Amino acid sequence: MQQPNPRNLHRLYYRSRPTPEAAADLDDLVGQIIGASIRRNRASGLTGLLIVVKNQFVQVLEGDVNAVRTTYARISMDRRHQDLSIIGQTTTSRRLFGDWHMCAKTLAAHDRAILEVLDGRVDLNPQALTAAGAERLLTAIAAVQRRATPKVLIE
Ligand code: FAD
Repeated sequence: MQQPNPRNLHRLYYRSRPTPEAAADLDDLVGQIIGASIRRNRASGLTGLLIVVKNQFVQVLEGDVNAVRTTYARISMDRRHQDLSIIGQTTTSRRLFGDWHMCAKTLAAHDRAILEVLDGRVDLNPQALTAAGAERLLTAIAAVQRRATPKVLIE
Protein backbone atom coordinates (compact mmCIF):
# COMPACT_ATOMS: atom_id res chain seq x y z
CA MET A 1 0.00 0.00 0.00
CA GLN A 2 1.34 3.44 -0.92
CA GLN A 3 2.51 5.36 2.16
CA PRO A 4 2.87 9.09 1.57
CA ASN A 5 5.32 11.21 3.49
CA PRO A 6 3.90 11.27 7.06
CA ARG A 7 4.18 15.05 7.17
CA ASN A 8 1.55 15.16 4.44
CA LEU A 9 -0.75 12.49 5.89
CA HIS A 10 -4.23 13.90 6.24
CA ARG A 11 -7.46 12.50 7.69
CA LEU A 12 -10.93 13.86 6.88
CA TYR A 13 -14.33 12.87 8.32
CA TYR A 14 -17.57 13.94 6.68
CA ARG A 15 -21.24 13.02 6.74
CA SER A 16 -23.94 13.15 4.06
CA ARG A 17 -27.42 11.89 3.23
CA PRO A 18 -28.29 9.67 0.30
CA THR A 19 -30.84 11.30 -2.00
CA PRO A 20 -34.33 9.82 -1.63
CA GLU A 21 -33.87 7.93 -4.94
CA ALA A 22 -30.52 6.51 -3.82
CA ALA A 23 -31.88 5.67 -0.38
CA ALA A 24 -34.48 3.39 -1.96
CA ASP A 25 -31.77 0.74 -2.36
CA LEU A 26 -28.91 1.63 -0.05
CA ASP A 27 -27.24 -1.79 -0.24
CA ASP A 28 -27.01 -1.51 -4.00
CA LEU A 29 -25.68 2.05 -3.77
CA VAL A 30 -23.03 1.09 -1.22
CA GLY A 31 -21.96 -1.82 -3.42
CA GLN A 32 -21.50 0.53 -6.41
CA ILE A 33 -19.61 3.07 -4.31
CA ILE A 34 -17.24 0.53 -2.82
CA GLY A 35 -16.37 -1.05 -6.15
CA ALA A 36 -15.36 2.31 -7.67
CA SER A 37 -13.75 3.60 -4.47
CA ILE A 38 -11.37 0.67 -3.96
CA ARG A 39 -9.95 1.05 -7.47
CA ARG A 40 -9.53 4.79 -7.26
CA ASN A 41 -8.37 4.96 -3.65
CA ARG A 42 -5.76 2.28 -4.23
CA ALA A 43 -4.36 4.28 -7.14
CA SER A 44 -4.24 7.42 -4.94
CA GLY A 45 -2.87 5.72 -1.81
CA LEU A 46 -6.05 6.51 0.15
CA THR A 47 -7.48 4.35 2.91
CA GLY A 48 -10.68 4.71 4.92
CA LEU A 49 -14.04 3.45 6.02
CA LEU A 50 -17.62 4.27 5.02
CA ILE A 51 -20.48 3.56 7.39
CA VAL A 52 -24.22 3.86 7.05
CA VAL A 53 -25.77 4.89 10.32
CA LYS A 54 -29.39 5.97 10.70
CA ASN A 55 -29.63 5.95 6.88
CA GLN A 56 -26.85 8.51 6.53
CA PHE A 57 -23.23 8.22 5.45
CA VAL A 58 -20.22 8.89 7.65
CA GLN A 59 -16.90 8.40 5.88
CA VAL A 60 -13.24 8.84 6.72
CA LEU A 61 -10.55 9.31 4.08
CA GLU A 62 -6.86 9.31 4.92
CA GLY A 63 -3.73 9.69 2.85
CA ASP A 64 -1.77 12.38 1.09
CA VAL A 65 -3.40 15.76 1.69
CA ASN A 66 -3.86 16.51 -2.00
CA ALA A 67 -5.31 13.06 -2.70
CA VAL A 68 -7.78 13.45 0.20
CA ARG A 69 -8.87 16.89 -0.98
CA THR A 70 -9.18 15.88 -4.64
CA THR A 71 -11.20 12.79 -3.75
CA TYR A 72 -13.45 14.67 -1.33
CA ALA A 73 -14.07 17.30 -4.03
CA ARG A 74 -15.11 14.55 -6.46
CA ILE A 75 -17.30 12.83 -3.85
CA SER A 76 -18.99 16.15 -3.04
CA MET A 77 -20.10 16.43 -6.71
CA ASP A 78 -21.78 13.01 -6.61
CA ARG A 79 -25.50 13.41 -7.20
CA ARG A 80 -26.34 10.25 -5.27
CA HIS A 81 -25.98 12.05 -1.94
CA GLN A 82 -26.53 15.53 -0.54
CA ASP A 83 -26.08 17.81 2.51
CA LEU A 84 -22.38 16.99 2.79
CA SER A 85 -20.68 18.43 5.81
CA ILE A 86 -17.08 18.01 6.98
CA ILE A 87 -17.09 16.83 10.58
CA GLY A 88 -13.37 17.34 11.07
CA GLN A 89 -9.95 17.01 9.47
CA THR A 90 -6.46 16.77 10.82
CA THR A 91 -2.83 16.25 9.90
CA THR A 92 -1.49 13.02 11.32
CA SER A 93 1.59 10.82 11.28
CA ARG A 94 -0.15 7.44 11.13
CA ARG A 95 -3.12 5.78 9.51
CA LEU A 96 -6.02 4.52 11.64
CA PHE A 97 -7.77 2.76 8.75
CA GLY A 98 -4.79 1.42 6.80
CA ASP A 99 -6.37 -2.04 6.33
CA TRP A 100 -8.80 -0.87 3.65
CA HIS A 101 -8.71 1.21 0.50
CA MET A 102 -12.39 1.42 1.35
CA CYS A 103 -14.68 -0.78 3.36
CA ALA A 104 -18.37 -0.31 4.13
CA LYS A 105 -20.39 -1.24 7.17
CA THR A 106 -24.04 -0.63 7.90
CA LEU A 107 -24.49 -0.09 11.61
CA ALA A 108 -27.57 -1.87 12.88
CA ALA A 109 -29.12 -2.11 16.31
CA HIS A 110 -27.84 -5.68 16.63
CA ASP A 111 -24.20 -4.59 16.27
CA ARG A 112 -23.81 -5.09 20.01
CA ALA A 113 -20.02 -5.33 19.94
CA ILE A 114 -19.76 -1.84 18.52
CA LEU A 115 -22.48 -0.36 20.66
CA GLU A 116 -20.92 -1.87 23.79
CA VAL A 117 -17.53 -0.34 22.94
CA LEU A 118 -19.19 3.01 22.49
CA ASP A 119 -21.31 2.53 25.60
CA GLY A 120 -23.33 5.67 25.12
CA ARG A 121 -20.22 7.84 24.79
CA VAL A 122 -21.05 8.73 21.21
CA ASP A 123 -24.25 10.25 19.90
CA LEU A 124 -24.94 8.01 16.90
CA ASN A 125 -26.95 10.69 15.14
CA PRO A 126 -24.61 11.77 12.29
CA GLN A 127 -25.89 15.34 12.57
CA ALA A 128 -24.61 15.47 16.14
CA LEU A 129 -21.25 13.76 15.59
CA THR A 130 -18.15 15.67 16.64
CA ALA A 131 -14.72 14.93 15.14
CA ALA A 132 -13.77 13.02 18.30
CA GLY A 133 -17.07 11.12 18.22
CA ALA A 134 -16.64 10.22 14.54
CA GLU A 135 -13.14 8.93 15.23
CA ARG A 136 -14.34 6.84 18.20
CA LEU A 137 -17.26 5.43 16.20
CA LEU A 138 -15.22 4.56 13.11
CA THR A 139 -12.25 3.11 15.00
CA ALA A 140 -14.66 0.94 17.04
CA ILE A 141 -16.21 -0.34 13.83
CA ALA A 142 -12.76 -0.93 12.30
CA ALA A 143 -11.78 -2.98 15.38
CA VAL A 144 -14.90 -5.13 15.03
CA GLN A 145 -14.24 -5.61 11.30
CA ARG A 146 -10.66 -6.70 12.05
CA ARG A 147 -11.86 -9.22 14.67
CA ALA A 148 -14.45 -10.60 12.26
CA THR A 149 -11.81 -11.33 9.58
CA PRO A 150 -8.48 -11.38 11.41
CA LYS A 151 -6.35 -12.86 8.67
CA VAL A 152 -7.99 -11.48 5.58
CA LEU A 153 -7.31 -8.11 4.07
CA ILE A 154 -10.81 -6.83 3.45
CA GLU A 155 -11.40 -4.06 0.99
P1 FAD B 1 -18.23 9.19 -12.85
O1 FAD B 1 -18.07 7.72 -12.66
O2 FAD B 1 -17.87 9.80 -14.18
O3 FAD B 1 -19.70 9.62 -12.43
C1 FAD B 1 -20.13 10.99 -12.51
C2 FAD B 1 -21.38 11.13 -11.66
O4 FAD B 1 -22.36 10.17 -12.11
C3 FAD B 1 -21.14 10.78 -10.18
O5 FAD B 1 -20.69 11.89 -9.43
C4 FAD B 1 -22.47 10.29 -9.75
O6 FAD B 1 -23.30 11.38 -9.41
C5 FAD B 1 -23.04 9.62 -11.00
N1 FAD B 1 -22.80 8.16 -10.95
C6 FAD B 1 -21.61 7.49 -10.98
N2 FAD B 1 -21.81 6.17 -10.92
C7 FAD B 1 -23.15 5.98 -10.88
C8 FAD B 1 -23.97 4.85 -10.81
N3 FAD B 1 -23.47 3.61 -10.80
N4 FAD B 1 -25.32 5.05 -10.75
C9 FAD B 1 -25.84 6.30 -10.78
N5 FAD B 1 -25.11 7.42 -10.83
C10 FAD B 1 -23.79 7.27 -10.90
N6 FAD B 1 -15.04 7.67 -4.89
C11 FAD B 1 -13.74 7.46 -4.62
O7 FAD B 1 -12.92 7.48 -5.52
N7 FAD B 1 -13.33 7.20 -3.34
C12 FAD B 1 -14.18 7.17 -2.28
O8 FAD B 1 -13.76 6.90 -1.15
C13 FAD B 1 -15.56 7.41 -2.54
N8 FAD B 1 -16.47 7.42 -1.55
C14 FAD B 1 -17.77 7.73 -1.81
C15 FAD B 1 -18.68 7.84 -0.77
C16 FAD B 1 -20.02 8.18 -1.02
C17 FAD B 1 -20.99 8.28 0.14
C18 FAD B 1 -20.45 8.41 -2.36
C19 FAD B 1 -21.89 8.77 -2.63
C20 FAD B 1 -19.55 8.31 -3.40
C21 FAD B 1 -18.22 7.97 -3.16
N9 FAD B 1 -17.29 7.86 -4.19
C22 FAD B 1 -15.96 7.64 -3.90
C23 FAD B 1 -17.70 7.93 -5.59
C24 FAD B 1 -17.40 9.28 -6.20
O9 FAD B 1 -18.35 10.21 -5.81
C25 FAD B 1 -17.37 9.20 -7.75
O10 FAD B 1 -18.59 8.74 -8.24
C26 FAD B 1 -16.28 8.23 -8.22
O11 FAD B 1 -15.06 8.56 -7.59
C27 FAD B 1 -16.13 8.32 -9.73
O12 FAD B 1 -15.79 9.63 -10.08
P2 FAD B 1 -15.98 10.15 -11.56
O13 FAD B 1 -15.72 11.62 -11.62
O14 FAD B 1 -15.20 9.28 -12.49
O15 FAD B 1 -17.47 9.96 -11.73
